[in-house]
Amino acid sequence: MRVAVAVGVSTPPVATMRSSCTRRIVAVSYRFVSMHMAAAPLSRTLSTESVAARLTSAGLLRTKGLIGANWTDARDGKTMPVYNPSTGEVIADVPFMGSKDTEDAISSAYDAFPAWSKLTATERSQLLRKWYDLLMANKEEIGQLITLEQGKPLKEAIGEVNYGASFIEYFAEEAKRIYGDIIPPTLNDRRILVLKQPIGVIAAITPWNFPLAMITRKVGPALACGCTAVIKPSELTPFTALAAVELALQAGIPPGVLNVVMGDAPAIGDALMANTRVRKITFTGSTAVGKKLMAGAAGTVKKVSLELGGNAPCIIFDDADLDVAVKGTLGSKFRNSGQTCVCANRILVQDGIYDKFAAAFSKAVQILQVGDGFSEGASQGPLINDAAIEKVTLLLIYIELKGADVLLGGKRHSLGRTFYEPTVLGNISSDMIVSREEVFGPVAPLMRFKTEEEAISIANDTNAGLAAYIFTTNVQRSWRVTEALEYGLVGVNEGVISTEVAPFGGVKQSGLGREGSKYGMDEYLEMKYVCLGDMNRK
Ligand code: ADP
Repeated sequence: MRVAVAVGVSTPPVATMRSSCTRRIVAVSYRFVSMHMAAAPLSRTLSTESVAARLTSAGLLRTKGLIGANWTDARDGKTMPVYNPSTGEVIADVPFMGSKDTEDAISSAYDAFPAWSKLTATERSQLLRKWYDLLMANKEEIGQLITLEQGKPLKEAIGEVNYGASFIEYFAEEAKRIYGDIIPPTLNDRRILVLKQPIGVIAAITPWNFPLAMITRKVGPALACGCTAVIKPSELTPFTALAAVELALQAGIPPGVLNVVMGDAPAIGDALMANTRVRKITFTGSTAVGKKLMAGAAGTVKKVSLELGGNAPCIIFDDADLDVAVKGTLGSKFRNSGQTCVCANRILVQDGIYDKFAAAFSKAVQILQVGDGFSEGASQGPLINDAAIEKVTLLLIYIELKGADVLLGGKRHSLGRTFYEPTVLGNISSDMIVSREEVFGPVAPLMRFKTEEEAISIANDTNAGLAAYIFTTNVQRSWRVTEALEYGLVGVNEGVISTEVAPFGGVKQSGLGREGSKYGMDEYLEMKYVCLGDMNRK
């Protein structure tokens, strides 16, 4: 089912934007601005109600938590509203669960573990594959849910469904490749074996920016290994998670293997951390909450994986191919309106190419169309909530006071609410707040550098270490710089690099562990060394 796409409100004419903007606007010539005006203006938006009604009739707008086989309210009956960030309308209420509900969910996962872990790898693989097939069969609907509750444009949301589902497909295959080991013994009457076994009940706490993919990247390998899970999606985007587990049930994954609670995040987090039955916590979100969970996990010595904030440098060298650099930087910076932890946060541009890059990049950013996620042609949706847009607005005020140039945008979009104009900033220095903090919005700060050594030093001058990007046509430089960057992921001449087959994760305070790829399985397995003695007896 595809929503008959209607359309939102137009990006204001560039001339209006420029004249109403009191900030310094440099480097963007009027000639290319007028040549690249946004396409046809948008005029209408789909109502939250109509999309929600379609999803309800498709059985995919689930509004309760899942504990075992039961779609459940909070024990105390509390609920909370979930909003469409584009319109501010309430989509529906969901239970506001707390520690008691979390205990129920843990018990459910714990009880489901023996049977699930004892299935053969082939059986688990087949069930995961069915889940994948159902996610793909319903990708339009799941995409609509993502757009509805998270705001990203429908095309990008459906892209997330493909990406999110790919983890289930990949780990359905990997389920069959959990090998142990036989090690040559040091004494001839012994045999040494290594078994790999599922760790047990895992807790997965996920953010709002990828409401599906951050869940499947965790529970795909967990289920493949034989673990069971309690999922706590973001309170801002619970519907995608609930629809995904509905499809898991339809695929035949037994009740209790996946449970979903949401509501009072700190209370749920504390209950998960304190419970000895939960053997692992996997978290994607802010560094501050990650540290809290890590400290909480210490009490019961749980295995921990964390995907935390980034501060991605994107380095464009003089010898870069300009088109490749512009396309790659645009993809990295503006995907999800800049709301990803791998978004280019600091765009370092070498002196010799700076002016050309700034002009070409601003020109490319200028044509990004802002609008409701269901509107035709929109590539930039709203920011997730008021706090997000206030953060971006404040950052802009700070850095303008420090003397940065606003090359493009630099203010709230005329659509209002949490829409922000795609923004390019010049003359940024490494001590400005945008260089130190994750912007998490559609703001691209350009910073000038002279030498390769200087670029590496600026890039590494942060506690974060998730993703970095470099653009160069010099193969030796690409190796040299890649090796020098203190990051878990490096894109060379490419700005969008996440895939289910490669290990995703950061170094320093960007996290612990890896997700995706064959390495992602290890996070959910324990090794057991078995020593067989007295093996010379006849
Ligand atoms: P973001 O700023 O991206 O929302 P958060 O770290 O605040 O990042 O949120 C990521 C996830 O962590 C969400 O599911 C949120 O509800 C959850 N969360 C927030 N605070 C806590 C907490 N104290 N304990 C457990 N989970 C939490």
